[in-house]
Amino acid sequence: MPTAIPTKAQFQKATDLTFVTGAKRAGDTILNRIDALLDNYHAMRKPQGQMILLGRLFLATDLWLKTCDRGSPEINPRRKDAVYSFYKTVVARLTEDTGVPVNLLPNWLTETFGKSMGAHGADVDLTSRSADYLSPEKAAKYRLKFSGGLAYQQKWWENDDAYIEANTIQRDPRQAGVIAAGFAGYIVTMGGEFYTGPHWAGGNNNANGRFHSSYLAGESVLCGGEMKIVNGRVLEINNESGHYQPGSPNLFMAVETLAIVGVDMAALIVAPHGLPKQSGKAYLGRFDKFAGDGIFTFANALTKARPGDTPLSRHKVATTLGANRTARTDGPSYAILKAHWKPRDQGGHGFGRRERCEECRALHHLWENMQAAIKASPGGIDQVRPADMQPAVLDPARGMQNRFVVAPRP
Ligand SMILES: [Zn+2]
Repeated sequence: MPTAIPTKAQFQKATDLTFVTGAKRAGDTILNRIDALLDNYHAMRKPQGQMILLGRLFLATDLWLKTCDRGSPEINPRRKDAVYSFYKTVVARLTEDTGVPVNLLPNWLTETFGKSMGAHGADVDLTSRSADYLSPEKAAKYRLKFSGGLAYQQKWWENDDAYIEANTIQRDPRQAGVIAAGFAGYIVTMGGEFYTGPHWAGGNNNANGRFHSSYLAGESVLCGGEMKIVNGRVLEINNESGHYQPGSPNLFMAVETLAIVGVDMAALIVAPHGLPKQSGKAYLGRFDKFAGDGIFTFANALTKARPGDTPLSRHKVATTLGANRTARTDGPSYAILKAHWKPRDQGGHGFGRRERCEECRALHHLWENMQAAIKASPGGIDQVRPADMQPAVLDPARGMQNRFVVAPRP
């Protein structure tokens, strides 16, 4: 018997608090969205559509638990046990239905709902080396907080971490012409968190450009584009990101996430790339119905070849990123080997004496690659580039950074 997903009534009963002292259930927009998704889930007949709704239930529940841990006036922590129990039920059913083991569930969710960088992004970031990739610590100041349906941001332009009502006005002349006036670039993570900050092009090899890829250092996003926020009210959102080129499912997830955190859907304008603008309410209502076989064609996403949006192309981008990171780290080491392995009359000790050299021995793990690259290069040792030598390796620890994790919560 598959794990049973509770009905809305059962979930409401489980999260009912007889004596409510803090936040009331009606003000908890995330719980309200979970209620609605549960109704949709039980009305859905297609197994594929059920899986999509389970995935969306997972993302909403994950966001509730995370927001609860951080503390929020809308969330009553006394519901945590019941919501966590529901979360585990959703995870159990997802692993049964998808056949994906629990430790790989984040990958499945990223494949199904997220977007990796396309060829353009990889070209700007890796070939031209013009992107500034922020560490999670540096990116943190650009994260939006939502409360009472309003967006709040840190005064990062004054290095002040107090939160104020967000406004997406351009705070740096370098942004003009890169982002539409009144808008800021945003990304929303797989964990449902929005980031907005400065956006400008960088110089080649300067690694100073701020792009959509900066916030998560090139990792996959749920969506990215431009957002207009005035005095905390989110007024418009689109999916204009050259780096990620998110599609309809990604923009839908961004809009659903805004609905989950309580943004007024009637006041929101959604501007999908290449399509007419529409209200958030109409947009959400329209696509909600087609959750199973409309914009979310997850089965296709795993089989259909779409450039920049298939597991294979995602893998390529990931491995390119991994190789590039390794090459940056190992570049100086290769330079040492190249200098040492030159003949003595050119200032080196020659290839033959590498075993006797302490520095060369310390770089032992690079020798085989170096030799193979020299053999493959008609120009000899001086024309070998570090990037040609390293087999692509993506550090799994680094790869999972900034993503949600399916793991037991305390
Ligand atoms: Zn040496």
